[in-house]
Amino acid sequence: MSEQPARPLRPHLRLGLYLSFNTLTVLGALWLAPPTFELILVALCSYYVRMFAVTAVYHRLFAHRSYTPRNRVVQFVLALWALTSAQRGPIWWATTHRWHHRHADTPLDLHSPRQQGLWESHILWVFTHRSNPLYQPPPPTDLLRFPELVWLDRLDILGPVGLGAMLYGLGGLPYVLWGLGVATVLLWHGSSSINSLGHTWGDQAYDTGDQSRNNLWLLPVTLGENWHNNHHAYPGAARHGHRPGEWDPTGALITLWWRLGLVSRVNPGPTG
Ligand SMILES: [Zn+2]
Ligand SMILES: [Zn+2]
Repeated sequence: MSEQPARPLRPHLRLGLYLSFNTLTVLGALWLAPPTFELILVALCSYYVRMFAVTAVYHRLFAHRSYTPRNRVVQFVLALWALTSAQRGPIWWATTHRWHHRHADTPLDLHSPRQQGLWESHILWVFTHRSNPLYQPPPPTDLLRFPELVWLDRLDILGPVGLGAMLYGLGGLPYVLWGLGVATVLLWHGSSSINSLGHTWGDQAYDTGDQSRNNLWLLPVTLGENWHNNHHAYPGAARHGHRPGEWDPTGALITLWWRLGLVSRVNPGPTG
């Protein structure tokens, strides 16, 4: 992957900058463009459209290969969409996540509430993992063979910049502040809730040997990723809901893509 040599990162400075950016973004939005029904709708649309990209593309496609895009054009478009999440590129996302599954809740895990505490597992790890000498992930050769994915991974800033430009064209600065700024802050915390709360709060349907949990309350926040204990039991499955009532919007979206012929070889998991 495009992993660079480990170097000291001054994590507290970067965390401070990040949290300041979060706070300034939200305060700036409230100050410069006070919330209206329209702006809240823009933020919610941006959140959910990009949450689907994180769950269906970064997680279930690139990290776990739970289905196969029809061709490289479809794969590229999906990756471009996921890039707008501002959660770095597909190779970084998949590599760090595969490491999590390999070492879930052991001292090697990058984000385990049991090992590092809730806050570190929620967001701090993003700023510290590259200076962690124990983090030695194998190269994701299945992704590196696509030069376009390597290119997108290096130019991941293009995603949020492109989204910002589109929002500016649609509604000027207020749309950028709410659709990119506020929504991206919420998106990071929404998806990070699986790393922190998804290993802390809820039930275990399977004895997976880790702390992963199923938690209904995180369903509207994470669109199906909340069945996280199911997922740790069957990581390659495209559907994370295994029982009646375990609704999985991301799994439903992948099924829709399969019906439309956009993807194939969908791994149905234990319910298949
Ligand atoms: Zn997990
Ligand atoms: Zn996973």
